[in-house]
Amino acid sequence: MTAIVPATDAGLALAATALREGRPVVIPTETVYGLAADATSPDAVASVFAAKSRPSDDPLIVHVAPGLLPRPRVEGLVTLGVVAEDLEPAQRATADALVDAFWPGPLTLVLPRGPAIPLAVTSRLESVAIRMPAHPVARAVIEAAGRPLVAPSANLFGRISPTTAEAAQSELEGRIGLVVDGGRCDVGVESTVVRVDADGGLGLLRPGAVTRVDLERVAGTSPYDVQAAEGIAGSPGRLLRHYAPSTPLVIVGTGPSGWQEPRWADLRRRLAQGTGRLGYIAWSSPSEAIRIALGGASTDLHVRTLAPDGTVAEAAHSLYAVLRELDELKADLLVVERPPGGGGLADAVADRLGRAAHGTPPLA
Ligand code: AMP
Ligand code: MG
Repeated sequence: MTAIVPATDAGLALAATALREGRPVVIPTETVYGLAADATSPDAVASVFAAKSRPSDDPLIVHVAPGLLPRPRVEGLVTLGVVAEDLEPAQRATADALVDAFWPGPLTLVLPRGPAIPLAVTSRLESVAIRMPAHPVARAVIEAAGRPLVAPSANLFGRISPTTAEAAQSELEGRIGLVVDGGRCDVGVESTVVRVDADGGLGLLRPGAVTRVDLERVAGTSPYDVQAAEGIAGSPGRLLRHYAPSTPLVIVGTGPSGWQEPRWADLRRRLAQGTGRLGYIAWSSPSEAIRIALGGASTDLHVRTLAPDGTVAEAAHSLYAVLRELDELKADLLVVERPPGGGGLADAVADRLGRAAHGTPPLA
């Protein structure tokens, strides 16, 4: 049985006790719900990998809170034993600037690993990923547990991240005991992950709500794309297929202009091979024309809108909940409109959709 408890003093105390005893607990953060466990205990960390069926070569992010840090900035992380003490001066200066600007918040820093973090957390890498979440419940749980916590997304490996307590519960039902309810996640997609190099340069490992422009403004250097520069090997855990519903998913351009006859024929063919049920996820309100055309191709059409207000923030906020809801329909196909613009948070949404669609042939 997996119970949901409210984030009251009693709920937080239950969570803290479980964490101190080495049992994982689901907690809310501003990005997505995380499966938290004691980051200093190899056994607790092993139970997180087991509960998620996550391969051991996909490293975890260590979550800290202000109350754990005896000193500000990187110095506090060094004192806690999370980060190594022998950082290069330029590396420390860049990391300090990013901590000052973006913590607490949806930015994860990859730095040299400190002695308090077992190799099981980092998949045997000598670097460690660290974040200070802004969600008040995440902060309260970390401080009550009194130690840094790993907290990968609270879903089975490769699947859609949960953004509500109920979604986390249904993902991990029977695999873990406790979910702390902190409401719907604000940001809705995972943190930006950036590696801080010895020379103070920045390697972007995963796009998120802290954007390239934000990073460049603060660090004074423009981040390079690690996966493009070093391939999959430089970017552990960045699998081509990830964040994926079990229903096949394809991405299309916004609006009817991209819809020529070969595409309609391909869509009709795929639906004719199945039940005819189609999930269509529009960016903003879809035109009447596309609704009518989709209704002609599908015998059972379900349309959802990611951003009724037209903002990328709203789309990111609702993305996983909408994917999860439509996945439950067991449709033949999910069709998602790609973000109309590029840059900023739209890059994070496009990144997640691209990985969710990996392996399904695109529409003609
Ligand atoms: P999540 O599964 O959302 O908790 O995010 C964890 C991801 O952070 C991993 O899949 C990696 O892509 C990245 N990550 C964690 N630790 C490291 C590390 N030491 N070096 C590079 N990337 C890391
Ligand atoms: Mg994840």
